[in-house]
Amino acid sequence: MKVPLLDLKAQYATLRDKVRPVVDAVMDSQYFILGPEVEAFEKELAAYVGAKHAVGCASGTDAILLALMALNVGPGDEVVTTPFTFFATAGCVSRVGAKPVFVDIEPDTFNINPALVRKAITKRTKAILPVHLFGQCADMDPILDAAGDIPVIEDAAQSLSAEYKGRKSGVLARVACFSFFPSKNLGGFGDGGAVTTNDTDLAARIAALRVHGGKQRYYHDEVGINSRLDALQAAVLRVKLPYLDQWSDQRAANARRYDEMLAGARVVTPVARADGRHVFNQYTIRAADRDALQKHLNAHEIGNAIYYPVPLHLQKCYASLGYGAGSFPEAERASREVLSIPVYPELTDQMARHVAASIREFTG
Ligand SMILES: *Cc1c(COP(=O)(O)O)cnc(C)c1O
Repeated sequence: MKVPLLDLKAQYATLRDKVRPVVDAVMDSQYFILGPEVEAFEKELAAYVGAKHAVGCASGTDAILLALMALNVGPGDEVVTTPFTFFATAGCVSRVGAKPVFVDIEPDTFNINPALVRKAITKRTKAILPVHLFGQCADMDPILDAAGDIPVIEDAAQSLSAEYKGRKSGVLARVACFSFFPSKNLGGFGDGGAVTTNDTDLAARIAALRVHGGKQRYYHDEVGINSRLDALQAAVLRVKLPYLDQWSDQRAANARRYDEMLAGARVVTPVARADGRHVFNQYTIRAADRDALQKHLNAHEIGNAIYYPVPLHLQKCYASLGYGAGSFPEAERASREVLSIPVYPELTDQMARHVAASIREFTG
């Protein structure tokens, strides 16, 4: 049996009849960029996470970039973040001319270690950028406590619908950045992103920055970028948003099933904190002999992926930051041991059993 890592066609099959008419309506309107669909989606997204404002933009990367720009992060500034994440997290910091300052992760959740965040703060620290990796919120209380007046930005690209102590990712800090890349828990039909915040001035500034810094067209108060959400994406996302909780529950149910089936196997299953809702954008196990396990799964046509094979402090483009191998042992160990396996909502019982059996065939 072939099991893909993610099956977007299976989800589309259940939504086709709802999606086609809204896409048709946008095409009939010929209103493609921002506009009423985007405004309606922004309202619905803000209401969903419980934030005052949501501002749509072109990608999750741009959401982070816009948040940093709006918080005046620039040359000479430092941003404390994790080296175990998708590149965009740190790439945006560099893009605005600031310096990413990495600190190591907690081995159990793969998220940034709050005690190390505290130690990394200096006079130059202009923002703290935790990532809610794989769909589980970072331990925000001690991070916010360490931050004091320094703004904290949630990289929430993988965590829409996740919760921390009863509150949703999106309202856990000053501003949150979401991605609607097709493989995220809420995926569009292309690139898309959004920021959410309770700060009305910040939301207004981000809304201006995404259209070249003008509140009024052709009048530019500051230099922004072009990063707008398409009406087609907003229309599709509006159809999908009401299903998000159900999909995230299905992911979590698949995760629990794997936890049971892999108990006692020679792999470490992911830890879900008791004080939150882990929405499993990825189900990521650890194995000491990960590369051999991956070969075994590949040979059995079981989808899998390594998120992430090279921690950011060891990327070629960051050699100039001066971190060497050994700087962040937990991030480095994670990059050697992690393997993500299929956990998408439409995964059947039979498929999940097959994946687990195949892992156990290898690990015993
Ligand atoms: C996907 C992702 C991003 C970037 O989102 P895009 O929409 O692909 O630009 C940023 N951070 C993390 C942690 C992500 O997983």
